[in-house]
Amino acid sequence: MKIETVDFFYLAMPEITTAADGSQDALVVRVTAGGHVGWGECEAAPLPSIAAFVCPMSHGACQPVGSAVLGQRLDGPQDIARIAAQVDYDSMDLLQAAHTWSGIEMALWDLLGKVWGEPVWKLLGYERSYSKTPYASQLFGDTPQETLERGRRSRTEGFRAVKFGWGPIGRGALGVDVDHFVAAREGLGPDGLLLVDVGQVFGEDVERAAARIPALEAARATWLEEPFAASAYAEYAALAARSTVKMAGGEGAHNFHMARNLIDYGNVGFVQIDCGRIGGIGPAKRVADHARARGVTYVNHTFTSNLALSASLQPFAGVEEATICEFPVALQPLAVELTANHIKRDGNGEIAAPEAPGLGIEIAPAALDRYRVDVEISVRGRTLFRSRAGHNPGPDGVPAMDAAC
Ligand SMILES: [Mg+2]
Repeated sequence: MKIETVDFFYLAMPEITTAADGSQDALVVRVTAGGHVGWGECEAAPLPSIAAFVCPMSHGACQPVGSAVLGQRLDGPQDIARIAAQVDYDSMDLLQAAHTWSGIEMALWDLLGKVWGEPVWKLLGYERSYSKTPYASQLFGDTPQETLERGRRSRTEGFRAVKFGWGPIGRGALGVDVDHFVAAREGLGPDGLLLVDVGQVFGEDVERAAARIPALEAARATWLEEPFAASAYAEYAALAARSTVKMAGGEGAHNFHMARNLIDYGNVGFVQIDCGRIGGIGPAKRVADHARARGVTYVNHTFTSNLALSASLQPFAGVEEATICEFPVALQPLAVELTANHIKRDGNGEIAAPEAPGLGIEIAPAALDRYRVDVEISVRGRTLFRSRAGHNPGPDGVPAMDAAC
């Protein structure tokens, strides 16, 4: 097969807020090859990501992603790895390239899986897809009482694991944070799995982060996520040495090496990978293999649609001992309506990567239309990209509302 087209669908809610909610807009990717179709999703700002695909070449090491992808052969996973290496090399000075390529890479796996009649995790070499305990991902409340109530609600909804993130933590007095940690544990009950995400709030200040450790230990938190900037490996390691609560991080990794450095030099206990940022499913699987060899637990990171959720589950679907997974529970309507089917919890409250071919998720064309953002990219009067309703129906009959021209 030859990669014939790569179509981008830029979607957004009518209003975008400053909330740390990545489901407010989306960049969905469709790839066609040999009359077959695959879908993927970038976890990135849509406009610069489209631009990274169509922009004029700046110089030899700063080429648009499209030049390394269109027209390439696609006959197996080795072709995806080969194209990935070319994107890395040809676009090394185009920092958005990893985000753009991530959605395309996912779509290539989806397409291959559909052609071969196998789920992607089988193409990755796994025998089966193990069920995982999903954690409900939510923000800390504005007050400790609100945090407590959110914890209680999650337990009522059947979640055994809950992640509290961001909110007031690290922004004021130590005592306020301690009260939130106590409230979170109380709301969850003694046996719930408590995960804490502070969203890089301590920058590179190890002492401020370390001051919170005794309270996190007392609350029996399973992990402290992203205390520092994504690449602050020395700071991660310094805090890990002073804490019985393990460090977690990795969602900010834009390539395999960043994630490996976090494991090898940051001494995290959990590495959390977003396939929509790291370059897709292939490098995420490499991280899962490396983590396993180092005794580190792999966890998916995802906060957009169920297409991205399915992609995020593939790299560690067959790792039996990695039992926790992220499961977004408060998505914007865009991210829910984008797919015709959804990954649901089973009778045990667990979820698993789908058994269906490819990523096992169907796109709902009406949502592509409903949330479409009109956009045009022109250079010297030449249109490089334009949103166009009803343009270029693919082999699946879904018109490309956004198409590279
Ligand atoms: Mg996080």
